Amino acid sequence: MFTCANCGIVSCEKEEKEVMPKNCPMTTKDYTEITKEYLTEQNKAIFVTAAKIESEGYCEWSRAREVVEFAKRMSYKKIGLAFCKGLKREAKIFDTILRDHGFEVSSIVCKNGGISKEDFGIDDADKLHPGCFEPACNPIAQAIFLNEEKVDLNVVIGLCVGHDTLFYKYAESPVTTLITKDRALAHNPAGALYCYESYYRKQLKAKKNK
Ligand code: SF4
Repeated sequence: MFTCANCGIVSCEKEEKEVMPKNCPMTTKDYTEITKEYLTEQNKAIFVTAAKIESEGYCEWSRAREVVEFAKRMSYKKIGLAFCKGLKREAKIFDTILRDHGFEVSSIVCKNGGISKEDFGIDDADKLHPGCFEPACNPIAQAIFLNEEKVDLNVVIGLCVGHDTLFYKYAESPVTTLITKDRALAHNPAGALYCYESYYRKQLKAKKNK
């Protein structure tokens, strides 16, 4: 098991690598084959482009700008937007930005299909409004339809936790995320971690079994 999140040495970011924790992946793993993976044509293009964007726009470019820059520099032509109905306005704005930059855009909302949650095996009691019709999110259809559209890049805008997991699982083209949904924190999930020592501790702390 690896524990990089709790490492106090972080020698991986330094040139001297004499001191490393015992379970550091650098002491136990062989990086030779993995490093070669970055040299395949597509991976290399993505990786080098990402590095250039990081250095050129560091702490200046918004993520929206970075996505546009990434798509342009990768010479992508067609962008797929997989968005949440709750972020339709944001999806429309980003669609406009992409079209202004010359991209073709194919966008699919999470509720496409309009299929009742019950049809997916979700109990009435687990709906937001039991007793009412509620269409389920359909991330697998979002992925499959954007695969059929042969988009060069998928951009996720605010898909729910778990629905995003299914979208990533079924998407065939590369995916990046523009907005990560957090309904309680204005789509800033890091906020709960920034405030973990204060306001969010009670909500996030594991309950111990008695
Ligand atoms: S890779 Fe090794 S040195 Fe780097 S953070 Fe993980 S355990 Fe620490």
